[in-house]
Amino acid sequence: MARAPSNCRIRSTSIADVPRAELLARLSRALRDVPDFPKPGIVFKDITPVLADATLFAETTAAMAAPYHGRGITHVAGIESRGFILAAPIAQALGAGFVPIRKSGKLPWRSVGKEYALEYGTDRLEMHVDACTTDSQVLLVDDVLATGGTAAAACALIEDVGGRVVGCSFLLAIAALRGHERLRGRSLDVLVVA
Ligand code: AMP
Repeated sequence: MARAPSNCRIRSTSIADVPRAELLARLSRALRDVPDFPKPGIVFKDITPVLADATLFAETTAAMAAPYHGRGITHVAGIESRGFILAAPIAQALGAGFVPIRKSGKLPWRSVGKEYALEYGTDRLEMHVDACTTDSQVLLVDDVLATGGTAAAACALIEDVGGRVVGCSFLLAIAALRGHERLRGRSLDVLVVA
């Protein structure tokens, strides 16, 4: 297995009766590499087998929430679209609200936006101007940390509307793409480092 980036804490999440090593082994077996998707040369990290397994899905979001219990998280922000799937149960586990960070033109209310570069192309993220206030303590959640451009743009959006980013949590990080460097100085949690 690849080594964790230096600013990436692989925390002990000790969910009552699910030893972390056993959870990570089951996660690693379930995560699926899809070569040449959506473009030649990209190895897509497919999390759908994790989501389809009721137990593994619940344990995964519990493990992602665990380091943030008792840390005053008021909102969990999920990045469209797979980030939504993980962020919503994490928000409920933490007793926090959910904030969608969406692709361009999808949000109905007044929004702020940021352009960013992807591993494959460019894109724009948007967030409602009133989704957070200066009292908001926000955990950012997405499925995969690749180059880090998406998460860095999402953090900037949260801060633009006044929120404080307490941490960034990912199911999986692709170490070779060095996304942790774009999130330098931020608290970073990753379950699986590929
Ligand atoms: P990046 O901005 O390069 O860190 O890309 C992260 C975002 O793009 C996340 O929302 C991921 O869902 C998606 N993504 C980028 N690369 C991959 C990949 N190889 N497999 C799956 N999702 C990816």
